[in-house]
Amino acid sequence: MASNYRDRIATVDESGGRVWVYPKFINGVFLKRRQVVSYLLIAFLFAGPWIRIGSEPLLQLDVIHRKFVILGQVFWPQDSFLFALSMVTAVVLIIVFTVVFGRLFCGWVCPQTVFLEFIFRPIERLIEGDRNARIRLDKGPWNAEKIRKKALKWVIYFGISFAIGNTFLAYIIGRDELIRIQTDPPGEHIGGLLALLGFTAVFFFVFARLREQVCTTICPYGRLQGVLVDRDTVNVTYDYVRGEPRGHRKRNASEEELAKQGDCVDCGLCVQVCPTGIDIRNGVQLECVHCTACIDACDSIMEQLAMPGGLIRYASENSIAEKKPFALTGRAKAYIGVLVALTLVLLGLIFFRSSIEMNVYRTSGTLYEVDDQGVISNLYRFTLLNKSHDTLHVQLAPDDARFSLELVGSTDLVVPAAEMVEGVFFLRTPLDGLSEDRAKFRIVLRDDDRVIASTKTEFPGPIPGMKH
Ligand code: SF4
Ligand code: SF4
Repeated sequence: MASNYRDRIATVDESGGRVWVYPKFINGVFLKRRQVVSYLLIAFLFAGPWIRIGSEPLLQLDVIHRKFVILGQVFWPQDSFLFALSMVTAVVLIIVFTVVFGRLFCGWVCPQTVFLEFIFRPIERLIEGDRNARIRLDKGPWNAEKIRKKALKWVIYFGISFAIGNTFLAYIIGRDELIRIQTDPPGEHIGGLLALLGFTAVFFFVFARLREQVCTTICPYGRLQGVLVDRDTVNVTYDYVRGEPRGHRKRNASEEELAKQGDCVDCGLCVQVCPTGIDIRNGVQLECVHCTACIDACDSIMEQLAMPGGLIRYASENSIAEKKPFALTGRAKAYIGVLVALTLVLLGLIFFRSSIEMNVYRTSGTLYEVDDQGVISNLYRFTLLNKSHDTLHVQLAPDDARFSLELVGSTDLVVPAAEMVEGVFFLRTPLDGLSEDRAKFRIVLRDDDRVIASTKTEFPGPIPGMKH
């Protein structure tokens, strides 16, 4: 057992330098399950920008135009409370999951782990070999073989990083804009091309060099573990009750000697396969990303020794120390309650959200005008934001029969799906019909005869009784 595991993380040496991890490949039941999940996720991630729900993408986080689309639902800056509530709900969901299952998300779903373990590392193994061959290659001189292998690996890494960079950009600017960047002359999209190269460089650096450091030192979610997990959280855990005292098994050990020994034969395979370089036998550690490689490794050793598997398994501290069966704690139940409440509120708000948002305000710096026929008029600006998937043909009108509304520039009001239109209109009324100096009424927006939005407005005029 390394005695310094509480002093520093496994990938940092005494002088603060990086200790490069060479995880050994291990096959097993969990690897096969994670392969299925990971390749499905990767396919989904690359397909995401091309999937549309109605006329909108599945997911688009267009921070440039402040337009966010989640599951085909468009969120504008005017919906920022809904977006914020979605984010809070997502955070609570992750907290619930973490309280109950630890870093399960990291090992099975996080794009960092999924891409590193199921795309980049297999390519590295294919070109440079498994753990021992890679250690030999890295320690060896820069001869022709090493240059050829490293160059080939980095060129492939760059190509995949470029593909990820394209996809990442498509989630921000949308597939159509990405296609324009890819197909138009480069001079027309310098900014877009620089963004593309920037993302590619970041992904290349993350997967070629940073690797597990993202999970062990950078990712804020990883740092949250210390406050979220407790003795009832299900983690990848070493069963020390069964495994200790550990030790190699002598060939001709007696029954009595074997009975005194735990099931861990101290083969070290669980440490060699760990992509974060830790020894899970030291207990639950922040660096563990739940990749399950140590479970597969230990199960393979147990199988060779004809002993039951599961010496390392998904289990809580309490289930190992006190043999308690899995049960939701009060804390987990409380978090689940909060999550359910937030989800219901969020769904309700989305479901009852108006499909169009209207804003009307008097044009600043203008005064009412009275013409020769004694008709008084005021000028207004308006914005209409269509949050639906359909183009809307709408009409604006005051709900007070004394007033008439005249659009400036056009008579037809067409608001395309997921777009905003702006315009100007006059409100008019005969001066002698006005009995107050600030008439208050509503501007109503109709789609055919159906009222779909309305907003209050004021119509300033002369003080009644005053001669104009
Ligand atoms: S301890 Fe096991 S599950 Fe955790 S990161 Fe290492 S190999 Fe993966
Ligand atoms: S793989 Fe299993 S038997 Fe080998 S050292 Fe790890 S816990 Fe012990």
